[in-house]
This record gives sequence, C-alpha cells and structure tokens, in this order.
Amino acid sequence: MKKVIIIRYAELFLKGKNRGFFEKAFEANIQRALKGIEHELLRQSGRYLVVNFAEEVIDEMIVRLKKVFGIHTFSVAYETDANMDAIFAVAKTVCKQEGSFKVASHRGDKKFPLTSIEISKELGGRLLSVYHNLTVDVHNPSFTVNVDIREGGKALVFSEFIEGANGMPVGTAGKGLLLISGGIDSPVAGYMMAKRGMNVECLHFHSYPYTNMQAKEKVVELATTIASYSCGTKLYTVSVTHIQEEIHKKCRPELMITLLRRFMFRIAERHALHISAQCLITGESLGQVASQTIEGMTSSNSVVEKLPVLRPLVGFDKNEIIDRSVKIGTYETSILPYEDCCTVFLPDFPAIRPKLKDILMEERKLDVEGLIKTAFESMEKIEL
Ligand code: ATP
Ligand code: MG
Repeated sequence: MKKVIIIRYAELFLKGKNRGFFEKAFEANIQRALKGIEHELLRQSGRYLVVNFAEEVIDEMIVRLKKVFGIHTFSVAYETDANMDAIFAVAKTVCKQEGSFKVASHRGDKKFPLTSIEISKELGGRLLSVYHNLTVDVHNPSFTVNVDIREGGKALVFSEFIEGANGMPVGTAGKGLLLISGGIDSPVAGYMMAKRGMNVECLHFHSYPYTNMQAKEKVVELATTIASYSCGTKLYTVSVTHIQEEIHKKCRPELMITLLRRFMFRIAERHALHISAQCLITGESLGQVASQTIEGMTSSNSVVEKLPVLRPLVGFDKNEIIDRSVKIGTYETSILPYEDCCTVFLPDFPAIRPKLKDILMEERKLDVEGLIKTAFESMEKIEL
C-alpha cells in the first residue's frame, strides 16, 4: 500500500490569464521545499500529487510543505487498487473507530462500475459493520473518509486535511527589502509579505563592537526562518556604529533615534534599488513606541525618495504580532536578550513628535553622504 500526498492550492491564483506564471512559481516552490527528498510531483486538474517517496520522510515533508505559500490544504492518502475490497481494506485503517462520519467519493474514472453515491453507500455500510461505535452523519460528520477513483485502476483513500500556509506563491509579487532587527516585529512583517508572494531579502543594521556576535547570530537565525518561507533569502548587514557616535557627539540626544532611523531608511532605499527590490518593508506598528507615531513615520519616510515603504503590521496590536511570531517560529529567537543597535547611545526620553524643522537643523551638523558611504563599506552579504 503506497502513500501519496495530495496538494490543493488556494483556488484563486490559478485562475485567469496568469495561470501559467503562477503555476510555474508554485511548482518551483514545492520542489524547492522538498529539495533533497526523493519524490515526483505530478500536476493534475485542480491539484498536485507528490508520489514515489519513502515512507520515513513523510513527517519531514509535512513540516516543509506547511511553509509553502499557495498551498490551501494537503492530505496524506493511501493509494490502492480501484476495487471495493481493496478500498475497504484501506478505509478501515484510515477510519476512526468511533464518532460520526460520512464517506465522500469522487469518481475520476467514469468506467468504474459504481457511481460515487454507490461507492459511498457501499463503503459506509461496510465500515459500520466492522466498527460498531460509528454513526453516519452526512450533514455534520466529525470526520470524513474520502475515496477518489483515479484513471488507471487506482484509488486514493484519505481522511485528514492538513492546513497549508495559504497566501500566494513566493516569486509572483516582486521583491522587497526587509529592514530586519533582532526584535519580534520585523520577522513577522517579512513573513507577511512573503505570504503575499513577495521575494523578501533582509537588511540589518548593527553597532558592532558595542553589540556582540550573539546579536548577529540571532538575526541570522531569524532571517533563516524567513528564508524557509520565502524560498531562500539574502541577509545584508551594515554597521551604523560610526553614525551613532557622530550623532551622539554632535546632535540633541532626544533626536538620536529619529536621526538614526533616517540614516537607516536612506541606506535601505539605496541598497534596495541596487538589488532591484521594489519596496522597503518594516515591522512598524502605529503608536507602539515613541518612534512609531505618525510623526515619527513621516520623518523617516520623508528621506525615501522612490520606493514605497510597506508596513504590514501597522494596524496590529502587539499581542497579535506575538501570536503570529509564535506561530511562524521566530518568537523564541526574537526574545533572546541581545540588542541589535547600541543602547549605550539611546536617550532616556526620545522625542515623541519630532518636528521636521528640528531634525533638519540637527542633520545639517552631520556629513550625511560621507557617513552613508562609510556604512556601505561595512556591508556583508550572507546567503541563506
Ligand atoms: P522590531 O520588533 O522589529 O525590532 P521594534 O518594535 O523594536 O521593532 P523599532 O525599534 O522602532 O521597533 O523598529 C521599527 C522597525 O525599524 C523595525 O520593525 C525594523 O523594520 C526597523 N529596524 C529597527 N532596528 C533595525 C535594525 N537594527 N536593523 C534593521 N532594521 C531595523
Ligand atoms: Mg526592535
């Protein structure tokens, strides 16, 4: 008795003119997720089948497929000969021994002697005759035994539906550059855009040697998790130590974060354009901290000249973001205590509604272009 995996996609994206484009990306993403595992991927109308894999790798395949955007649900099914005795033998192992159930049948091969209703009736009856604590409920069953008669004399039998990641296939919605910190929010923001089909690359600013190597490792780990959803990613790191020192030396302390933010956004946009990314992505959420007021966002946004800044978490509460980060597997890493940018320079009372006039006045004390140039010289690239 062989097992196969049935993959169902989120219906919408395979409709219309771009079908071929979406399918190609979707298939490539599935293949990428299953890399290193021997298998075959077959396209059928309305779904995909993964076949010819070893029984021992199923758990690993499930873990990996759960991260592929565009998958709506998937099922591990038994493949058997298309005759009622063989189907019944398999259905007995798939079926629970108690509770309410129904049999749902689909006859892909119209040459099969029974209609789908007849298959369901016959199989339901046989199951009831061996499991006496089962009851039939066709309207609201607690589980369903599914039978799928395929062309070529084979049938698939399964009961469980595993929830997929949903969303759109990565690679169908352009490329974005995620400003990734070591915190909880930005990895979730990257996940959200990957879920909508975007290729996400990551940019991280650090204050080495004020911040340590563990802080860097933490970000590498977070970006690795993002890579597992976005079919790989690149992490770029840039030092802003010299910028923080310069601001600390010359500017009003309450504007440190605002000024630093503007440097980050400038560097990020230039780098995004360089790698052909079409937007910046941040983990900002309105009002969450002093720098995330609408005034704070306006101030950092105003140095970005060409690209949109996407803030997928802008309307989320912190606990909603935390829930999501637990679900996607970044939370435990995000709460490790290593700081990403140097806290030595952070003021006790950051400006909550910084005025552009003040910011520009402080910025005039700095060699903005020179500082940016030095920052780019520190750039490192890590392929994940
Ligand atoms: P996070 O949980 O993502 O760290 P936060 O609540 O700490 O966010 P801020 O520190 O105000 O908020 O950062 C807002 C956003 O700015 C982050 O979500 C991230 O996109 C970007 N950002 C902050 N620090 C860095 C950094 N060191 N490197 C790259 N991007 C950063
Ligand atoms: Mg942070």
